[in-house]
Amino acid sequence: MSKMVKLIALDLDGTLLNEDNYISDKNLDAIKFAQTNGVEVVVATGRAHFDVQSIFKDTGLQTWIIGANGATIHQPNGELFQSVPINRNEALNILGWLEQEGFYYEVFSNDSIITPQNGRELLAIEMDRVTSGNPDVSIEQLKHAAEKQYSQTGFSFIHSSKDLTGTGMDFYNILAFSFDEDKLKRGKAHFKGTTDLTIVSSAKHNFELEHQNASKGIALNILASKLNIDLKDTAAVGDSYNDLSMLRVAGRSAAMGNAPDEIKKSCHEVTLPNVEDGVAHFINSLIHGTKI
Ligand code: CA
Repeated sequence: MSKMVKLIALDLDGTLLNEDNYISDKNLDAIKFAQTNGVEVVVATGRAHFDVQSIFKDTGLQTWIIGANGATIHQPNGELFQSVPINRNEALNILGWLEQEGFYYEVFSNDSIITPQNGRELLAIEMDRVTSGNPDVSIEQLKHAAEKQYSQTGFSFIHSSKDLTGTGMDFYNILAFSFDEDKLKRGKAHFKGTTDLTIVSSAKHNFELEHQNASKGIALNILASKLNIDLKDTAAVGDSYNDLSMLRVAGRSAAMGNAPDEIKKSCHEVTLPNVEDGVAHFINSLIHGTKI
């Protein structure tokens, strides 16, 4: 293993996971090899930690988990190490606005992904409208994106955001999802100037809101310092805009082959795409000290 790298932070979707949300054997072997050699492997994702644990269930993997785009950090044994929730009243206002604008949304609490009961119906209607108005849009691709969203673990359904008033829950991540590009743009623009929020995007059809002090980069910084590891001795791998904060602070950064050009340009190197075990390829290049 390359002398310098003591911690590797890995994004999940589009990075460690293949298109069917699995971790390939090659990637799994590479991670376990790195761990055996004393490298701290950290997962850094927009997903909720309990959803990550469900993905890890049959893999035998135990890692630190930076979840909800940095709003939570969980220890390898599953215990919460740190969290940065969104101000509760502000979160409820945001959900009220998303409802009023007809957005499908999800909000992550400690143990569930809360979403309105009519959300999937809303998305089905959008999908029909977008595909009937534009023959170039692939309905299969949109269906796949929706299915991926619904395949998360831990959903709980509400009638409206008013159901959450006075519950005392912590809210870590609010995800808005739409197949309508203009609507998505309007949503992003609406929240853009809000100084106490971080707004990022992890995929084509969404934007996500967290507390201003929550990002993958901030969480990586906190975790590295907790583990007494210098940031220059860390590496990070990702494929999207919600990874930029950690790709910028890591000592070595690799973009996935499937990442947009803007992400690739922000990284030290580019590895193979997720469907070609890009994570294993990167880890192996560290082990053998070769440049990609
Ligand atoms: Ca990703």
